[in-house]
Amino acid sequence: MRPVAIGLGANLGQPDDTLRRALVVLEQLPDLSIVAASPLYRTAPVGPPGQPDYCNAAVALSTELPADDLLLRMQGVERAFGRERNGTRWGPRVLDIDLLIYGDHVIDQTGLTVPHPEMHKRNFVMRPLADVLPGAYVPGQGAVAAMADSLGDAGLRLWTAD
Ligand code: ADP
Ligand code: MG
Repeated sequence: MRPVAIGLGANLGQPDDTLRRALVVLEQLPDLSIVAASPLYRTAPVGPPGQPDYCNAAVALSTELPADDLLLRMQGVERAFGRERNGTRWGPRVLDIDLLIYGDHVIDQTGLTVPHPEMHKRNFVMRPLADVLPGAYVPGQGAVAAMADSLGDAGLRLWTAD
């Protein structure tokens, strides 16, 4: 099976609740199925200061959808959760879904870069990705598990009800 993974993040409202509901929506979409979902992590925000903590997770998918169609589906889910694109990169968001890896494909087209260009720097992406696809590779970059281990877990903890 071609390893395909998406990363989810949220930091507005009840972000853990958002991610749980997003998983239910993803489960119900046609043309793809969830292979594995990581635990939810609570992570310190990147970008503009003063933002609430993020909730992050990764999901491995099985799908025959081409990568660009898959991204459109994910953007549809973002919109269903009220995501507004206001131009602030890394600003607070109701729900962000990024396409992390799509098998061994390297894609660099307008609106879609795969592997996701920032993922290898971010433990809040790589740790949950290693949870769902421990044996996978990030094309051109290395083994998921080793990359997650070398980033470490600073600022990252499991989401608990506190
Ligand atoms: P970010 O996730 O970088 O904080 P956005 O979610 O607003 O920001 O995405 C900005 C743009 O990134 C989108 O319009 C989308 O077309 C583009 N993009 C490029 N590659 C990817 C990818 N692998 N996954 C998700 N979006 C991507
Ligand atoms: Mg995004």
